[in-house]
Amino acid sequence: MTTTPDNHWDLTPLYAAANNPAWENDLQGALRSAQAFAADVRGTLDETTMSAPALALALQRYAELQRTGLKPYFYAQLLFSAKSDDDCHKALFARAREAWHSLSEATLFFELDLLRLSDEAFAPLLAAPELQEYRHYLQQLRAHAPYTLSEAVEQALKRKDLSGKEAFAQLFEEITGEMRFTFTFPGEEAPRETSGEELLALLYHPDGNVREGAFSTFLHGHAAAATVLVACFNNILLDHGKEAELRGYPQLMTPTHLESETEPAMVERMMEVSAANYDLGQEYFALKRQLLGLKRMKNTDLYAPLSTQVRHIDFAEARTTVLAAFASFSPQLAELAESFFAEQRIDVFPAPGKSGGAFCHGMAPGLSPYILTNYTGTLRDLSTLAHELGHGVHFTLAGGQNLYNYNAPLPLAETASVFAEILLTRHLLAVETDPQLKIALLCSKIEEIIATTLRQNVLTCFELAAHQKRGEGLLSSDDLCALWLSENGKLFGNAVEMIEPYRWGWSYIGHFIQSRFYCYSYIFGELVTLALYRRYQQEGAGFIPKYFALLAAGGSQSPVEALRPFGIDLGDPGFWQEGYDLVRELLAELRTLIAAKEENCP
Ligand SMILES: [Zn+2]
Repeated sequence: MTTTPDNHWDLTPLYAAANNPAWENDLQGALRSAQAFAADVRGTLDETTMSAPALALALQRYAELQRTGLKPYFYAQLLFSAKSDDDCHKALFARAREAWHSLSEATLFFELDLLRLSDEAFAPLLAAPELQEYRHYLQQLRAHAPYTLSEAVEQALKRKDLSGKEAFAQLFEEITGEMRFTFTFPGEEAPRETSGEELLALLYHPDGNVREGAFSTFLHGHAAAATVLVACFNNILLDHGKEAELRGYPQLMTPTHLESETEPAMVERMMEVSAANYDLGQEYFALKRQLLGLKRMKNTDLYAPLSTQVRHIDFAEARTTVLAAFASFSPQLAELAESFFAEQRIDVFPAPGKSGGAFCHGMAPGLSPYILTNYTGTLRDLSTLAHELGHGVHFTLAGGQNLYNYNAPLPLAETASVFAEILLTRHLLAVETDPQLKIALLCSKIEEIIATTLRQNVLTCFELAAHQKRGEGLLSSDDLCALWLSENGKLFGNAVEMIEPYRWGWSYIGHFIQSRFYCYSYIFGELVTLALYRRYQQEGAGFIPKYFALLAAGGSQSPVEALRPFGIDLGDPGFWQEGYDLVRELLAELRTLIAAKEENCP
């Protein structure tokens, strides 16, 4: 292996060291370019004088100055995420953020000026050959034009947001982040103080009483903070309703559709089809109940582990396994992923001060992406590694795009990562011989799919209904709890019993506060990827070049355009069922495995 023994990422291709003068030079250079750009371009985006070549030049300069500033910014961000308790990293990141803020302020006029052009002036620009590589960005930007208010109003709204919705979002973060609970951990004598994250991790504990006890403690803690949490929800919901009125959004979800490039009818259809497949979830829950040997299935049993047998997978084995899974699809996919190991672009193990979870930082075109994981050797860690490498390959392939077209549109952002996870599951199922482990593998895949589709549909339905009801008046905690139970009850049916404190399940979900209606993009992304995988099963090798082309297109196309070569019509209601058909097939496969195992060991 070419990686260092401790498996830290190597950031020297960016800067030789944190105190290297090149870092400050790049930052200063970007700021100077931003000021020069403002001096040259401000006031020139005028209906009568502007030409397509001039705009192309401005767009090129705008991207270039951002790229120059992003390199030192991302470098500081990476250093900070790997070791945030280092004072030098803190200072560097703070300095980068300030500089980026100044750069954004100096160039804010540019997009606002583009938005102010009339449709008559804008239409010929979109058709101009010089602007073809910016077409998608310009179209996306212009989609906001009908809902953009005058500069003075926009500025006033921005300022009032600080003490309005942003203040409530901040309060929610602080209240939930600082919450402490008292719980007696399994194997410990006395109760001790703990964080919410530690309690939620116990949902995967083998003992049902531990799972229920931990989740109940977590939910009761939120119930105790009901006054503040309910106020946060009420104000965030009201704020959005008022803003929708002010901007004239035809629907509450309009701004999300604009961001995600989705059509209202498309998403409504997707949600209907998802609700119509709740029985698939119930079928799975019943199977899981049977596998766990339980009389009744509670919602705290959903993620219960199936075997206590835990095998440690060391990182070298994880690398070989993921690369083999990728190679089973295409050697090129494995090669692209291999470069992350060979070039030491993965920070592997947990460490003090390192950020939790995992991510792939896409960086910018021309700068190689980096991956951070907290690898401990579990099957979930293996799956996470495949997921992040999927993102990594996606960014690498999109590296030929300009900065505007680099990041895939939201509904396609998880395509490569989810696809990579399916490849891994299929590979493991093919090589694994232990029937018990095969069952566990298949269950965890199905659970994951249910969590990103059916469950996100419940969340989206709750959120939409809460917004609508807030329009009629203030919501009490009982209103919110009742709505939550009613939407969840539709998915669980008679298959799963909700524990009493689960009525507070809505109160800790940050997406409702921080990124409104984001949950539906999970369903969208998962169903699209499952459908793509199904095409791959049907088409075989013919699918592979189309798949690579989709990833290489980055964000240069809308989801509708990007999926057309696969014969996928997002407007067709039948399309959404395809993903669920694949789940039905996985369920049948699981049933066969269970039946075979029972035959062998009655
Ligand atoms: Zn991801």
